[in-house]
Amino acid sequence: MADPLEVRVPDIGDFADVPIIEVLVSPGDTVAEEDPLVTLESDKATMDVPSPAAGTVGELKVSVGDTVSEGTVLLTLDGAGAGGDAAGDGASAEAAEPTVAEDATPQPATDGPASYGSEAGEYEAIEVHVPDIGDFSDVPVIEVMVHAGDTVAEEDPLITLESDKATMDVPSPVAGTVRDIALKVGDTVSEGTLILTVAGTGAGVGANGGAPDEQRLPSVPAPPVEGTADHHAEVVVFGSGPGGYTAAFRAADLGLKVILIERYERLGGVCLNVGCIPSKALLHVARMIAESEEAKGQGITFAAPEIDLDGLRSWKESVVARLTKGLDGLAKQRKVEVVRGTGTFTSPNVIRVEGADGATTVSFDRCIIAAGSSAVRLPGLPDDPRIIDSTGALEIEDIPGKLLIVGGGIIGLEMATVYDALGSAVTVVELMDQLIPGADKDLIRPLQKRITGRYEAIHLGTKVASIEAADDGLRVTFEGEKAPEAQTFDRVLLAVGRRPNGPRIGAEAAGVLVDERGFIPVDRQMRTNVPHIHAIGDIVGEPMLAHKATHEGKVAAEVCAGHHTSFDAQTIPSVAYTDPEVAWMGLTETDAKARGIEVEKASFPWAASGRALSLGRDEGVTKLLFEPGTRRLLGAGIVGPNAGELIAETVHALELGADAEDLSLTVHPHPTLSETIGFAAEMAEGTITDLMPPRRR
Ligand SMILES: Cc1cc2nc3c(=O)[nH]c(=O)nc-3n(C[C@H](O)[C@H](O)[C@H](O)COP(=O)(O)OP(=O)(O)OC[C@H]3O[C@@H](n4cnc5c(N)ncnc54)[C@H](O)[C@@H]3O)c2cc1C
Repeated sequence: MADPLEVRVPDIGDFADVPIIEVLVSPGDTVAEEDPLVTLESDKATMDVPSPAAGTVGELKVSVGDTVSEGTVLLTLDGAGAGGDAAGDGASAEAAEPTVAEDATPQPATDGPASYGSEAGEYEAIEVHVPDIGDFSDVPVIEVMVHAGDTVAEEDPLITLESDKATMDVPSPVAGTVRDIALKVGDTVSEGTLILTVAGTGAGVGANGGAPDEQRLPSVPAPPVEGTADHHAEVVVFGSGPGGYTAAFRAADLGLKVILIERYERLGGVCLNVGCIPSKALLHVARMIAESEEAKGQGITFAAPEIDLDGLRSWKESVVARLTKGLDGLAKQRKVEVVRGTGTFTSPNVIRVEGADGATTVSFDRCIIAAGSSAVRLPGLPDDPRIIDSTGALEIEDIPGKLLIVGGGIIGLEMATVYDALGSAVTVVELMDQLIPGADKDLIRPLQKRITGRYEAIHLGTKVASIEAADDGLRVTFEGEKAPEAQTFDRVLLAVGRRPNGPRIGAEAAGVLVDERGFIPVDRQMRTNVPHIHAIGDIVGEPMLAHKATHEGKVAAEVCAGHHTSFDAQTIPSVAYTDPEVAWMGLTETDAKARGIEVEKASFPWAASGRALSLGRDEGVTKLLFEPGTRRLLGAGIVGPNAGELIAETVHALELGADAEDLSLTVHPHPTLSETIGFAAEMAEGTITDLMPPRRR
């Protein structure tokens, strides 16, 4: 067997005696080439030292707090095999350079890894039910083949049933991580019984939502409208969220007669009423409170804020009302008729709408389904008003003394930001071993560092095992290797994912396919398997984001009007409006690694940005990923205040096929945070002057 490889600190420019702030591996861990081993933090930058080869970690020679310089031995790597000269003699510097040898021509990723449908950063929690098992019912479960936390592939068996006639395995409809198992050996089940929930990985879902690129779905001819209906439109839009109202307005602008069906009084769907907009209104307030605290270090002391919850709530409401009333006005101006009530397909051309004043029917030549998604509730929890979802959290009924947030993804962490600023002691519990799983670890680190100091606790790799309602609060028990003792909370906020509303609209009566996860598959023209029926937004797939829904809505409306349009966005950016914000687009490093795509990475630490320092916020990082050789932009990630605004430049650059030179030669105004994008590109080009340029091979 080859001698263990000594992995040393590579060339890190002019830095010396840099402290180690995190050791990311333990003896016995298997690492792949380029996996990060330790994180160093100088006064200017945070940097990971990657493994120069694949192997098993032997002995750790350093620990957190040690200071290191180029050549310091970090650890030994067993079984590293060929390429042993990659370390121990300084040659490891090459492997650690941000530039990686090129030979691939990857396409930019078309789907971001996390979205608002996946608060834990997973794609969504899917309930798996017993499928159609013919005439069998009350069949005993003889084996449960998985445990909570197990990873399963699509089609992996989950449980075995044994009737008097047959033994049958129930396979997983998706790949993902098993969450809550709802039954045990000896239980009897029938079609529809809940087996467990799986946090899916969403693999294979493109930016076009449900269908892989260019997929042509099987189509069935549109039958003529049977009988008469109370209303008729050329285009009926089913649901008035950002996808639905955009589709309705665009179709009307293209000269079509449009009816918009909505079950709630207010138009705007989740985004305007209980999602994007109210959450951002509250996050703005949270930022003001945090800034007034931070001002102390800048020579200004404000008194502690007095929080008037009624005033805060009515301000948030006024923002929502202004936007939703605006939609009413825009619908009127365009002569879009709004029919209010809960719709259900009764045939391929008719929707029955149950409203407050009774039922009505609406027939259509074409339909655009935009019925969105709903929050997932974990099974087996008590029915207690102190257990809330994001909609309840946005109501800010009170400021709980102790708040538990279940789900460390985007929604959970945004709500944590709000309640922490208002004064709650916030605890976050996340099943996976990372906050916002799916996002690159280096982008999450500054966020985690900041909130670790502020929040009561953050429990990763931990699951809520039970919640019991008591007079003095909600008694919560936890499971997992690092699980804390049971604790009592004043409120529990569930932020564990969203589920598409596909199974709730009577799609089968229209012949529209709904997959086992509840999504409606569509092609690039947003057509379902029934060619005159389109679907858009959360109901067609990940990422569940408003800006995806609106763009898909326009495509569907234009196709209805006979245009040759299709949805071909290169990427859909993701933003967590936490403090600091985390934003990314295109290919992520995590995804590149998983898919074996070689990338050239360039990062600019905000500690070297004059604007960031003048804001008192130097923890940010702007990272760009380029195609080796051509240096075409493939992806970007930004963490820091306003990252959500900054990421837009990189999305535009990706859409235009820009490369590092384009970005570095673009004159960014000074001093702005936007400069960090130009600087990161200069890091790739080697033309940076605000830092030492990284050495290239
Ligand atoms: C707390 C929170 C914060 C969020 N923040 C952001 C953010 O900052 N940025 C972002 O991009 N995304 C965010 N999202 C996600 C975003 O809200 C959704 O992606 C977006 O609303 C999806 O739009 P949609 O048009 O597909 O559906 P929806 O907005 O869900 O709208 C669907 C509409 O259809 C109606 N409907 C459903 N079924 C029926 C029926 N049978 N009959 C009649 N009407 C029906 C519903 O009432 C609803 O109005 C957030 C979500 C949440 C929960």
